[in-house]
Amino acid sequence: MGDTLTGGCQCGAVRFAVRGPITNRAICHCRMCQKAVGSVSWPFFTVAMADIQWSRGKPSLFRSSEAATRGFCSHCGTPLTFEPVDDTTIDMSIGALDDPSAVEPVGQYYAHERVPWFDKQPNLPSLPNSASPEELERRRPYQHPDHDTTEWPVP
Ligand SMILES: [Zn+2]
Ligand SMILES: [Zn+2]
Repeated sequence: MGDTLTGGCQCGAVRFAVRGPITNRAICHCRMCQKAVGSVSWPFFTVAMADIQWSRGKPSLFRSSEAATRGFCSHCGTPLTFEPVDDTTIDMSIGALDDPSAVEPVGQYYAHERVPWFDKQPNLPSLPNSASPEELERRRPYQHPDHDTTEWPVP
């Protein structure tokens, strides 16, 4: 875990680098995380706030409770952080990493709030992609590449 991790939002207006040890890695199923990320769970990792370098832009913040704020990109909406108000640590979205496979959760919070079908996901059938070549071309992502860039927006 000594390597530098990099990541950012979907549009690339917010980019970050992690330069310290990861102190926790988990999935949260609580209702607030579900809403905050628009999904049914939030895979995240925890680091010291001082170990996050915002290399481009900064997250906008929503005060989601007295205790914490949630950070997201104000351009594209990507959920990025959970920041306890009275703490020096920050939780970061694993999905925002340039390589999300680099950080593997070791546990689950609020497991009792899991959506009932969560555990069935590995057994769901793989569905074919029936899009035409023309349609696939139209779906070519405007997403920022999974690495740092010198210019934004990327030409
Ligand atoms: Zn963005
Ligand atoms: Zn949560």
